[in-house]
Amino acid sequence: MKKIIFATGNQDKLREIREILADTGIEVESMKEAGIDVEIIEDGSTFAENAAIKARAVCKASGEIAIADDSGLVVDAMNGEPGIYSARWMGEETSYRVKNAEILKRLEGVPDEKRSARFVCAMVCVFPDGREIVCEDTFEGRIGYREAGENGFGYDPIFFVPEKNRYSAELPREEKNAISHRGKALRRMRAELEKVQI
Ligand code: IMP
Repeated sequence: MKKIIFATGNQDKLREIREILADTGIEVESMKEAGIDVEIIEDGSTFAENAAIKARAVCKASGEIAIADDSGLVVDAMNGEPGIYSARWMGEETSYRVKNAEILKRLEGVPDEKRSARFVCAMVCVFPDGREIVCEDTFEGRIGYREAGENGFGYDPIFFVPEKNRYSAELPREEKNAISHRGKALRRMRAELEKVQI
């Protein structure tokens, strides 16, 4: 069985990557399961750089193939904020209720056509021999006018998805995964992994 270590402590992400790689014969281990505990400083200036920093650190510490992802929300009317700082924006401890309310406030009076936004996900796989695979994808939508829905997490309640005519937090998990930045980047990664010799 081929093994990959996924550089995250997030159980939802682990489950998602396991589901998507389920029939590839690749076993996905968490850092904890692999006994890896490294301090990683994400000081890159793009999603892909930050994902690569994490994956390289875990690959180096374990000697195994490692995958990491980095994601966030890009709001055009806010010059791309919160972007790569999505998790830390307004402080790591600040609730998403407060963060989402702040974004809605900043966009008060902004018309529909200027409320465009997207979630971005970069996924990087690093091999012990130095090869790297980078996959990136987006989930396009716009900032709504209120919070809606109970599903998802983070900025999902204010992210309106025109093709579904619903907010992201109103979409059932499978429906979101089929069109989300992370789901699409993961499926690209799966296709790339199937092409190379692991
Ligand atoms: P990370 O990739 O785990 O560092 O996540 C970055 C941050 O981006 C999260 O903490 C959320 O604030 C935001 N984010 C990323 N993906 C999503 C999503 O699918 N829904 C809502 N927020 C997201």
